[in-house]
Amino acid sequence: MAIYSVYFFCDECSEIHPLGTTVSLDDGPAEKVSIGDAYSGKELNPNIANLLNHKITCPNTGKITFQKDNKQIFLVPAGD
Ligand SMILES: [Zn+2]
Repeated sequence: MAIYSVYFFCDECSEIHPLGTTVSLDDGPAEKVSIGDAYSGKELNPNIANLLNHKITCPNTGKITFQKDNKQIFLVPAGD
């Protein structure tokens, strides 16, 4: 089981922000990769599916935003 930090591309300001949450995955990637690439052709892990449409406030614009494109959400291994 590996822990991943989650980042996403913000449509409001075109920067990458942390989603402020982590996920634990048995079948996760070894390096930073988008969800869309990590699970291409595979069923989404339910822990991952929960991340889609997860609403956050953009720290640059103050607007509520979310990212539903799984190619714009990234898993980054958080170490041990
Ligand atoms: Zn933003």
